[in-house]
Amino acid sequence: MTEYVVQKYGGSSVATPELIARVAERVQATRESCTGVVVVVSAMGDTTDNLVSLAHQITDDPPSREMDMLLSAGETITAPLLTMALAARGIKAIALSGLQAGIRTSASHRKARITDVVPLRVLDELARGNVVVVAGFQGATEGMDITTLGRGGSDTSAVAIAVAIGASSCEIYTDVSGVHTADPRLIPEARPLADISYEEMLELAAVGARVLHPRAVEIGEVYGMPILVRSAFDQSAGTLIHRSPAMENRQRVRGIAHETDVAKMTLVHVPDRPGIVAALFGAFGAANINVDIIVQNVSHDGTTDVSFTLAETDLCEAEKVVAELVPRTGASGYEASANIATVSVVGTGIRGAPGVFASAFQALAGAGINIQLISTSEIRLTCVVDRAQVEDAVRALHHVFLAALDDDHLV
Ligand code: ADP
Ligand code: ASP
Ligand code: MG
Repeated sequence: MTEYVVQKYGGSSVATPELIARVAERVQATRESCTGVVVVVSAMGDTTDNLVSLAHQITDDPPSREMDMLLSAGETITAPLLTMALAARGIKAIALSGLQAGIRTSASHRKARITDVVPLRVLDELARGNVVVVAGFQGATEGMDITTLGRGGSDTSAVAIAVAIGASSCEIYTDVSGVHTADPRLIPEARPLADISYEEMLELAAVGARVLHPRAVEIGEVYGMPILVRSAFDQSAGTLIHRSPAMENRQRVRGIAHETDVAKMTLVHVPDRPGIVAALFGAFGAANINVDIIVQNVSHDGTTDVSFTLAETDLCEAEKVVAELVPRTGASGYEASANIATVSVVGTGIRGAPGVFASAFQALAGAGINIQLISTSEIRLTCVVDRAQVEDAVRALHHVFLAALDDDHLV
């Protein structure tokens, strides 16, 4: 039976030539046990950050199309280096760019979405017995312009390729031993989960658990591709993301996530009449700016305030849109603040369990943390807090919900 496996190695797993050699060793072991391996790689170490900073040394506002060509260079370096390391071990391998691997994307530079994967070349090389090493994070538009998928997007490249070639699973190798109950860099007592549903992982990833790119989880869920998150540095089992994790005796809360790339804007004294919010968010949609939590309160004297959060990285662009819009809406002005963060509690067990919200609010109050905005989904509670207090907030919530997690649910 043909069994293809896709493995993705993140930046810290390929940060040096020695680490690339270790990855080659691991790929060789996998190659011996299946029909074919596709390896998706990220840029080495801090390469992407360094390229971003290089561009900003040239100009304050680098054009997105050129940024994509620049940033894609990071992954374009790793793929041939790993291929050379495999060849040095006597393993047949070939490096492909995102374009060569058939990753077709939308034209939204810096946050392009994969529209299609045409895996003919990849399948062809696998049939020839090659390990195929694909540069992650990058793709190309129909017009052959190079695009990138947004920070952390190599995960999405990997899952999309796994689906396109009908791989049996997609393994994400990273610098932690799986998906933890909170960011293990912040909460040393956070523990790795044995498994988690796509639904919960998607919520966690969307609210800051950057161990997986949210769109990778989305694709995994739509196509039922199992995703295994593991350490590139040891042999621990990792976390399986799939459809049906053990449901018995489930903890109500599965993880705490936090996000610091957040900003808040408030339109002040917006006239309370139809069409105003539509105009505002229509303008954001047109500028490809994602708005997250939106709060509009009851109006007094015919006006209301509208607050919303967005990525801090989009704030500059958003201010241009809002400054343009304020006079047209009749609002008296706007406020913008980047000094905030979000903390979220996620778990399918939150459904229909109002006590979870009360416990979360009590935990935050007990730590002296003021909540600025609240948003909920069926399986998530998110609070906007002062950025300086976000670590305390994660600690307090982890302590209340996850410190006493029983071992059945862990690796
Ligand atoms: P890579 O370069 O391998 O893609 P990332 O830095 O993108 O790695 O993601 C791994 C990091 O995600 C970890 O080092 C960890 O600090 C962070 N992280 C945040 N939340 C979690 C979580 N719930 N579980 C595991 N890691 C998390
Ligand atoms: N190199 C890119 C980044 O740093 C993509 C990735 O690592 O997934 O965001
Ligand atoms: Mg990543």
